[in-house]
Amino acid sequence: MSRFFTEKNAELIPYTPGEQPQDMQYVKLNTNESPFPPSPGVVAAAAQEAANCRLYSDPESRLVSEAFAKSLGLERGQVLAVNGSDEALNFAFMAFGKKLYFPDISYGFYPVFAALNHIPYTEIPLREDLSICVEDYCGLDGMVVLANPNAPTGIALSRDAVERIVRSNPDQVVLIDEAYVDFGAESAVGLLERHENLLVVQTFSKSRSLAGARLGFAIGSEALIRDLNTIKYSTNPYNVNRMTSAAGIAALAEDGYYRQNARTIQENRRFTTDRLRALGFRVPESSANFLFARSDRLGGEALYRGLKARGVLVRHFNKPRIDDYVRVTIGTREQMEIFLRETEALLKEAGI
Ligand SMILES: *Cc1c(COP(=O)(O)O)cnc(C)c1O
Repeated sequence: MSRFFTEKNAELIPYTPGEQPQDMQYVKLNTNESPFPPSPGVVAAAAQEAANCRLYSDPESRLVSEAFAKSLGLERGQVLAVNGSDEALNFAFMAFGKKLYFPDISYGFYPVFAALNHIPYTEIPLREDLSICVEDYCGLDGMVVLANPNAPTGIALSRDAVERIVRSNPDQVVLIDEAYVDFGAESAVGLLERHENLLVVQTFSKSRSLAGARLGFAIGSEALIRDLNTIKYSTNPYNVNRMTSAAGIAALAEDGYYRQNARTIQENRRFTTDRLRALGFRVPESSANFLFARSDRLGGEALYRGLKARGVLVRHFNKPRIDDYVRVTIGTREQMEIFLRETEALLKEAGI
């Protein structure tokens, strides 16, 4: 820390992104990226738009917002395009967060954005089986933030469960982070017409193979989206760049490709879950593009290190309650076979 760093930020503990190593080629299953490339139209559209970079991007992101809203059966004023859904989370915390409630085990950025914006927060413990207890989130006196499916557990709430939480907090914004919804969970978008306090956040980083382009959306009532725009225009009016907007529009036009990829991920998830369980792992049923897995014979840290030495990168969280687990992104069938082969070899090597 330099002597110039402000006191109000001195205590900040920033978010730790998953490793993006350059030292060798890993089977990379640590940051929940898609193993599939963007569709051909996306690459062409982004390349073509690069020629217009002399000009600022449209601060309203009209074209991509309109295309996205249409894909959900909504109006353009009900969505806000953002530079990755992390930005939507930060904007929403800035706009609506007086007090926050989220699970003790969830996306690591929630406490970071809360601290950055000096918003007090309460972490509500998940149940022993890592599921969310719906009653714990009913009738609270602050904004509720839930990832659905939750990360890093992969466990999803039903739409009815989400609606119970939204209905029981009529004077609070309930933010549902649907980063992984396309891999088999029920979206809360259909609840928007009944609940003005619901805000949904989605991203093109996972199911749409655009993590490196940075595109996400906040979705809610026109009034909530107007408030988020006030924050956006006070922060970064040109938050979505030209190539990314063009890529997003093209991705929406090639939706079938991404749906098929999501189905393939679901098949590979089934395959990997079953094989891991046969190896003695405990694996909660996941609705996301990753698994949260725990061996009762080899700790999470040992699994992570052992797999890394064998060229397979997974994510380990050095955090109470979950340090026995690793989070494994679902990749191609070939990648999952390598992961399973190396995991089995590791267990054998450990004499288990
Ligand atoms: C990946 C992820 C995000 C952020 O994605 P962006 O790349 O910023 O769009 C948000 N929430 C959760 C739970 C995630 O896992």
